Amino acid sequence: LHEYALVSSIFGILNEKIKEYNVNKVKQVKLMVGDMTGVEDMTMKSCFEIVAKDTPVEGADLIIQRIPVKAQCTNCNHEFIVHGWDYKCPQCNKTGVRIIAGKELYIESIEAE
Ligand SMILES: [Zn+2]
Repeated sequence: LHEYALVSSIFGILNEKIKEYNVNKVKQVKLMVGDMTGVEDMTMKSCFEIVAKDTPVEGADLIIQRIPVKAQCTNCNHEFIVHGWDYKCPQCNKTGVRIIAGKELYIESIEAE
């Protein structure tokens, strides 16, 4: 599972922070997830719960903040949000674009005690 591998790497980072700050209990984890990652919120949340079991993260709220796919036209430099895999520039109608956002996957914040 794609999400399971991602959750495992997220927990690698979480566990380092837990040690670093002597955390007893993690209350909330906020993740930034780009729409291009193909990550499903529901799958992500259930993988998170499985990996969190019997760790200080168990019972923590997982907040997933989606980042829309953003492209920049290589012809006119116009920046736009991509909807439904339509990469045509709305300004000049050319299809040459480069992706400038939407591939992100990182921990935005951790709330703990
Ligand atoms: Zn353009």
